[in-house]
Amino acid sequence: MTALKLDRVTKSFGRIQVLHDIDLEVEEGEFVVFVGPSGCGKSTLLRVIAGLEDATSGRVEIGGAEVTRTPPAKRGIAMVFQSYALYPHLDVRGNMALGLKQEGQPKAVIEERIAEAARMLELQPYLDRRPSDLSGGQRQRVAIGRAVTRQPQLFLFDEPLSNLDAALRMNTRIEIAQLHRALGASMIYVTHDQTEAMTLADRIVVLRAGRIEQVGAPMELYNNPANRFVAGFLGAPS
Ligand code: ADP
Ligand code: MG
Repeated sequence: MTALKLDRVTKSFGRIQVLHDIDLEVEEGEFVVFVGPSGCGKSTLLRVIAGLEDATSGRVEIGGAEVTRTPPAKRGIAMVFQSYALYPHLDVRGNMALGLKQEGQPKAVIEERIAEAARMLELQPYLDRRPSDLSGGQRQRVAIGRAVTRQPQLFLFDEPLSNLDAALRMNTRIEIAQLHRALGASMIYVTHDQTEAMTLADRIVVLRAGRIEQVGAPMELYNNPANRFVAGFLGAPS
């Protein structure tokens, strides 16, 4: 089954067109990374997939169902943001429970899902703490754990490691890769970091000024970049 299908998706803000005719298919279980320079439309594309922005034209399908105008909560996605987006007044358990409560999940299911996500991300010691008592790395693991509790068809990550220092970036990157293997879930991951793209991706989508420049496996792009732009991002030093 296809996890995601984008068909000629465009997005404009007023008269400024930010995404141009984006066509893309992501297979179930695939890890796809969007790369490209700041301002090229990575976050906007992810937000259109999530339903946080509506596409101006085109069609979005998730898990075979059209969701072009479906609200985010009904798309079967969970998103992790660079800024964690945790609620400061709730403890970790409360942050992880909130979305499930809004879905109307029974208490037993909520507790079970939190326990499972906490085990996977080693969050048990923090469940009763507030985000303000946690380090950046711990906060991001909570945000990832919260996404896991939703059991989404598709995980969306927007530069989740950008606020972390180098050592923590590597650890968290490895955790995300392990999570992908353990869950077998489809993931789309935005970054401008070449190492993250090369190590995490089954396929990389290179974006430039709101258009897809090239799509391929990391080594394919590394060895055969379509042009100097792609080479500059991912290619072998020439
Ligand atoms: P990236 O994530 O690749 O850095 P973005 O998707 O955030 O890029 O932004 C792409 C372009 O769209 C930028 O020029 C940005 O200023 C513009 N943009 C993003 N969101 C909005 C918005 N809500 N209103 C107007 N312009 C926006
Ligand atoms: Mg962005």
